Amino acid sequence: MEEIRLGGGEQNARSVWRAMGRGFMGRCPHCGEGKLFRAFLKVNDRCENCGEEYHHHRADDLPAYIVIVIVGHLIVSKFVLLEAAMDVSIWTQMAIWGSLTVVVSVALLQPVKGAVVGLQWANRLHGFGGDTDDHFYRPKAAEATGDGRE
Ligand SMILES: [Zn+2]
Repeated sequence: MEEIRLGGGEQNARSVWRAMGRGFMGRCPHCGEGKLFRAFLKVNDRCENCGEEYHHHRADDLPAYIVIVIVGHLIVSKFVLLEAAMDVSIWTQMAIWGSLTVVVSVALLQPVKGAVVGLQWANRLHGFGGDTDDHFYRPKAAEATGDGRE
């Protein structure tokens, strides 16, 4: 299988899977050594090992959406399997799947956020390519008319 490589020329291509894997493990997507997080979901401003900057990442809500999709598929499928196989009371079901949903969601949030930051780094998005992407967020109407209205 050919490895997916995006974001630049052949000599400085960044491996998407390697960067996402390093991010998933909480490591710097660039060097794989430095810690990516300074707190549960707070990304370090820069790598303590190689100096790669992370303060401009824009993971935003994507990690939460990904976790919802993963946990939804895991929990709902197991809930349906248990419901079909055994006669379990609704309170037992709620105790099992409610608590499991919380535990798995919390366990997955940081690794998934790390993988998203790794994905952005590998594709040189949001400043990871050396330039800023402020021009995406500048209101064009305000530039054209000067009054900020469209
Ligand atoms: Zn690093």
